[in-house]
Amino acid sequence: MQKIFANTEQWLEFDRAHLWHPYTSIRDPLPCYPVVAARGVRLELADGRQLIDGMSSWWSAIHGYNHPVLNQALQEQMQQMSHVMFGGIAHPAAAELGKRLVDITPAGLDYVFLADSGSIAVEVAIKMALQYWHGKGQAQKNQLLTVRGGYHGDPFACMSVCDPVNGMHHIFKGVLPQQYFADKPRVKFHEQWQQQDILSLQQHIEQHHQTLAAIILEPIVQGAGGMHFYHPEFLRQARKLCDEHGLLLIFDEIATGFGRTGELFAADHAQVSPDIMCLGKALTGGTMTLAATLANDRVADGISQGEAPVLMHGPTFMANPLACAVACASIDLLLQSDWRSNIQRLERALQNGLAPARDNPGVADVRVLGGVGVIEMREPVQAADLQEKLVARGVWVRPFGKLVYAMPPYISNDDDLATLCAAMVDAISN
Ligand code: PMP
Repeated sequence: MQKIFANTEQWLEFDRAHLWHPYTSIRDPLPCYPVVAARGVRLELADGRQLIDGMSSWWSAIHGYNHPVLNQALQEQMQQMSHVMFGGIAHPAAAELGKRLVDITPAGLDYVFLADSGSIAVEVAIKMALQYWHGKGQAQKNQLLTVRGGYHGDPFACMSVCDPVNGMHHIFKGVLPQQYFADKPRVKFHEQWQQQDILSLQQHIEQHHQTLAAIILEPIVQGAGGMHFYHPEFLRQARKLCDEHGLLLIFDEIATGFGRTGELFAADHAQVSPDIMCLGKALTGGTMTLAATLANDRVADGISQGEAPVLMHGPTFMANPLACAVACASIDLLLQSDWRSNIQRLERALQNGLAPARDNPGVADVRVLGGVGVIEMREPVQAADLQEKLVARGVWVRPFGKLVYAMPPYISNDDDLATLCAAMVDAISN
């Protein structure tokens, strides 16, 4: 690539003036940190500073950056083909990945749609549910039920099932499909289950099942909607209610998949199989954009009986071979490792490291599940100021709202984790 910009200042200035960043003003953007390389668990800034990564690039880079095994998989695939259309063409990388996903996901999820990003996997899941009922001759069953506090992505169908307040539904009033929202699950992961926690979901189902296609949930961890860890029994009860009323159950495992919560999939905490499941983020170890929507026999049959009778979706970069190849390598790396005890090690390190934050009167809660550690403040943080303090302490953590949280790469060693946690605890105090 021929370089247009002579130095960091020049390209950063262009970035600041012309490039939209996530949820950022184009006129008055918050500062961005120039990263020029990433190796292992370290991000390298343009001035040579190294930051310990606490975010895994939003849950994705579970094996750290620039991993030789993942790089090799990419290089080998590149020699064959980087991309080829999936319409009317099959390729071995997609089959290799499909087989792995069918084998490791909860029982019955045997049919795989390889999408190009997490939110598109959610769109496909919603479309599958709607086409299923269309195929059954019940097209009026076209609404979704979810819980408050959720997040499923930014396209319109995804947004319609994000928390109505955090998700800014009022901006898109009249455009977003109208869905139903039950209360957020209250009983926390480690607390004693209370049956009343499911009542709101149950009432919504009883009232609206005639127009409901499916329930969609982030299992166990509500991520971007608040980093809330809820009780596995909620999922078992949701499965039971879906079965009683014939509804489909969709799990969005885009953030939780591939070991992050201590089980391979969050659904495994409850031993529940959904009818449709979405995967993304860590699927390629954070190297390429790829996601998957898996469905069971019931869904596949329903869609196939429909008027179409095909699934009406087919993006240009569907099943991109590079992404599929590196996803296979990432899954193999994970499964060949002692991932369960490694995540337990991360969990202990995050628990020990973040515990001192409890002494800070500004802290409302400190919670850890698997490789996810959260400090919840009583008041929203000044994101840019806090970010600066964290960077000054040598770590990359991106706070939002009241949350200062980390989900570090699985390869983080104990020293890295201790430094990361100490920086978080210190930055919120000083
Ligand atoms: N669902 C969940 C649970 C997510 O956390 C995200 C990403 N933050 C998405 C869907 C959307 O995925 P993507 O950003 O890859 O489109």
